[in-house]
Formats: sequence, structure tokens, C-alpha cells
Amino acid sequence: MLSTPGENRLSAQLVSLAKSVALITVALFSLQSNPKAQAVGGGIELTAEQLAEAPEFSVPVDCDFDTTCFVQHYFDHGPGSRTQDHFCSGLTYNNHRGIDIRTTTLEQMEQGVNVIAAAEGEVIIVRDGVTDRALNQREVNEFLTNSGLVLKSNQVVIRHSRNWYSLYGHLKKGTVAVKKGQRVRRGQPLGEIGLSGSTSFPHLHFGVMFNNRVIDPFTAREDDAGCQQPARQSLWTEAAEAILTKRKVGILNAGFSDRVEGIDDLKTKPLLSRSQTLTSTQQITFWSGHWGTQKGDHITLEIHQPDGQIARVSSVAEESRVNGYHFLTLPLPPSGQQASGRYVGVFSILRGKKVVASITRGAVVP
Ligand SMILES: [Zn+2]
Repeated sequence: MLSTPGENRLSAQLVSLAKSVALITVALFSLQSNPKAQAVGGGIELTAEQLAEAPEFSVPVDCDFDTTCFVQHYFDHGPGSRTQDHFCSGLTYNNHRGIDIRTTTLEQMEQGVNVIAAAEGEVIIVRDGVTDRALNQREVNEFLTNSGLVLKSNQVVIRHSRNWYSLYGHLKKGTVAVKKGQRVRRGQPLGEIGLSGSTSFPHLHFGVMFNNRVIDPFTAREDDAGCQQPARQSLWTEAAEAILTKRKVGILNAGFSDRVEGIDDLKTKPLLSRSQTLTSTQQITFWSGHWGTQKGDHITLEIHQPDGQIARVSSVAEESRVNGYHFLTLPLPPSGQQASGRYVGVFSILRGKKVVASITRGAVVP
């Protein structure tokens, strides 16, 4: 922690979450495996012929990746319980077999983000009617520890060619727009990003299958022999690959609140809007949620107070994290009144000398 002149009168709290709170939809159907597929290192090595039959996938959501959507989890290639995406960074969780594309906030999901067919094909599985509900922390822990909690989600599965399929999971209830047996063209809306099934945040789980084997579309590999293995082939279009690998760190949201009493408040509620007008007798807390920090990143929160003092906490990330939350609380002064005026919160992530993400939020005490 850094020491600042104003800090000795502050109750500063800096907390991170070690665990991802994100969950999967696994491939929920089984098909005949292809006898020609060769088993290599715990996974299959697809033949050139099989790869030639693979579709080329577009981005499976109609979403702005600069402002609204990002990839929260890639495919896990880590051996055993190690978590490694194909970049050898940590944007995945153990045994994740797909790509999670999320909206940054719940409000964006509620406004509607279309999930679209990544390539043409025939719809072979459709499910709708499952309520959108974020898992609570107990359920998340249960899922992550024993994978016993796998809930059905609203989903669509498309068959693209003889052996290749794509799956679209966690769709929003009531939005599935296609029927079983229907032919769909690339880019055709299938439904909307939702919160159905085993998930704690709004996202699309995009899975690619070669028969009953789940394949990473970035590498055309399924195995868990580690991230150093070169990709066999990307199954994305060049444009899609560029979009889906552009940003690997960012900020979910930030704001002032009088209601943050512990990290649990932020684990499950960071996506909700918070009041930005505070009363003089309330606690003042500036909070932020982020994703994709790497070991060695400097993470800093500041509250610029009406009298010019700056409260600040800073830490160096000890490990890479899928996401995390931080908050900084100003205590109520002995007078029992917070100073009137404008408070400005600044959250930043510094990598080397470069600010890789930052956000500024304001609040007013009348
Ligand atoms: Zn997923």
C-alpha cells in the first residue's frame, strides 16, 4: 500500500477475488465420435481432411467489443487442474470448454444483445423457457469445487457440416428465435445474451464440436496438454479472431456507494447501478470491478475529496486473475458529517509504465 497524507485517517480496504465467478455450459449432447480421429496427448489430433471440413466462424454476437462485450473466458488448455488459455494467460477456468463472451453490465443484457449464427447451418437443438438468474456465491462455489451444479440453459445447437457443430448457451429466456430443423445463414439472430443455466454473469457460452469432441476454435485442439502447443488452425475468420483477441484486460464497472460493507456485496452485485448522490451522514465507498489483471500489475483506487485530500490504496497483483473487485471506504468523520461537495473516484490498472485500464466516477454530497 502507498502512504498518502490523508490516508492515516482512512479506513482503507483493498480486496481481490481469487476466483472466477463464471461458469460453463458443457456440451449437452453426445454424437458418434469419428473413428478417424487420432488420440494424441489426451485429445484428438484432427486430420487435414477433417479440418478442411470445418466451418469458418464469425463473431457469434452482434455487439461492440470496445464498449459492451468482451471475452471473459477462453478455452482451458492447462494440464490437470492448471488453468491456461491458449495465450498461456489465465483468462479461463479449469476445464472450461468454450468461449465466454459477456456483456459488461446487466443493463446491457437487459437492453438486448443478439447472439448470431457464427456460420450457416441447420438448427438441431433448441431450448427456451429457462429463467435468467445469476447463481449466488454458494452455488458458484459448489459448481467450481465439484462441478455438480450444472443447470440447463436456454440454447441453440447448429450443425454446419457432416461433423462440425456450434453451441450457443445461456440465452435469455423468451428470445430464442429459431426452430429445430431450420436452416440459418451466417449472422442470423438466434436469441439474446442471457443469464440462464449455470452462470453468475450475462454471457454467451460459444462451443465448437467435432462430433462429440469439444474443440477450441482458436487452435482446433481439444486436449489439455498445455498452452505451448501451436494452434493447428484457427476456426475463426481473420476479422473475428482480431476482435476476439483485442482486449484482455478491462474494467467491469465502478461507482460510489453507501452500501458496500464487504467483498460479498461486490461479488454478486457489481453490475447494478448505484446511487451517485450520497447523504452527509453516510459511509462513502468507491468500488470497482475489473477483469484480466496479470501478475505484477499495479492496481490503484483513489478518492479525491472536496477539501483536496486524496485517499489512495494501491497494490501489486500477486497472480493473474480472471476478475476481481476492490473498494475504498472513507470513514465517517468524528463530526458525524461527511464534507459537502464533489468526490471523484479513480481506479486504474498499470502494467509496466502503461495504464491499461482506468475509470473515473463522481459522487456528490449535497
Ligand atoms: Zn463458458
